[in-house]
Amino acid sequence: MRGRLIEDRIGFDRRHLWHPYTSMEDPLPVYPVASAAGVRIVLEDGRELIDGMSSWWAAIHGYNHPVLNQAVRDQLEDMAHVMFGGLTHGPAVDLASLLVEIAPSGLEKVFFCDSGSVAVEVAIKMALQYWQSMKHGERQKLLTIRCGYHGDTLGAMSVCDPETGMHHLFRSILPQHYFAKAPRCGFDGSLDEDALSDLSRLLQEHGREIAAVILEPIVQGAGGMRFYPPLYLRRVRELTHEHDTLLILDEIATGFGRTGKLFASEWANISPDILCLGKALTGGYMTMAATLTTSRVAEVISSGDPGVFMHGPTFMANPLACSVALASTRLLLSSPWKERVAAIQEHLTRDLSKCLDFPHVADVRVLGAIGVVELHRPVALARIQKRFVERGVWIRPFGRLVYTMPPYLILAQDLQHLTAAMVETIREEGA
Ligand code: PMP
Repeated sequence: MRGRLIEDRIGFDRRHLWHPYTSMEDPLPVYPVASAAGVRIVLEDGRELIDGMSSWWAAIHGYNHPVLNQAVRDQLEDMAHVMFGGLTHGPAVDLASLLVEIAPSGLEKVFFCDSGSVAVEVAIKMALQYWQSMKHGERQKLLTIRCGYHGDTLGAMSVCDPETGMHHLFRSILPQHYFAKAPRCGFDGSLDEDALSDLSRLLQEHGREIAAVILEPIVQGAGGMRFYPPLYLRRVRELTHEHDTLLILDEIATGFGRTGKLFASEWANISPDILCLGKALTGGYMTMAATLTTSRVAEVISSGDPGVFMHGPTFMANPLACSVALASTRLLLSSPWKERVAAIQEHLTRDLSKCLDFPHVADVRVLGAIGVVELHRPVALARIQKRFVERGVWIRPFGRLVYTMPPYLILAQDLQHLTAAMVETIREEGA
């Protein structure tokens, strides 16, 4: 009976449900999930998969965590939601207070929004409104680096990599911004002077039009899973000061410990003018994001015309999401996350480097709890996904990249299983 129901659901799913970046005519297979707990995703057919993805950087504490479940339950007893226009509540205030405390210095004003992409839209609008209030409405352009990814909405897409970021499909309606060369890939590498001087040149030539520089600090995620050295980021901060423009850091993927620092900007010891957070903010429980900014930016926006910041989503500061985000962040801060991430880094470095022996592998790179194996050619997603599932792990490659970012509390033996499955499956790809 249950088997039948599941078959019906999969059939309906194939015919009617869109999944991320898939065709409705020829959808890739999907695996029905019954439940998830700890680092395990349990499929409807009873198979258990060790999670290597943290549901796209979000579920840092794994699934079904008792502390996070309790936070949701407790909040539900009080209220699931109230509008944020004209009302406020404890979960929003306490979460904002914690974020201001732990965020890079100077970021004191918090705007809660719905998702990572919206946090980026909000950041862009803050930068534009700042310059309008400064009577520099001509500053309407953004400057970013290639290979970046900032989300799927129009404003966010306009600063995604023009080639790999869906950008080209929508080019005619996207605002046109400036793109500098991406820094050479490698966390430990020397400073890429060429890439930096390209960015510097663009600031020199177009600085008066540029409202902000926006980039992902240290790790460029969906645009290529690339790492770059902290010194590059430091120099970008210096250049934005020199050219009197704002710096937006998108820490939606890197925030909350993933790179080995609580925020990746700490590697460079810098603070941006505007910071975007999302994904792991709620421990992967619900969609919510935050855009933080300095008192200076907030004051300027508030002193201009119309004197208010022009954004206000229906579900702004949703109490359930705020409560679980507060619980997740407190849980993270009270856990030995640094040691856990360091142990994952050590393991990933040791095990994934075996892939360097395979001729079809171009690069292996690891930073914090992120392990990336880059192949020379794109993988056949449906086939490789099936092999991972057969080996009892959940890894979702894209393009030429097979990568993992497991929940921080993954045990050594599960991590061992995960990386062994990755190495074996990648080895087969070359056969
Ligand atoms: N910025 C970065 C760096 C991201 O990795 C993502 C999501 N992959 C986003 C923005 C967009 O976030 P969301 O999917 O929650 O809209």
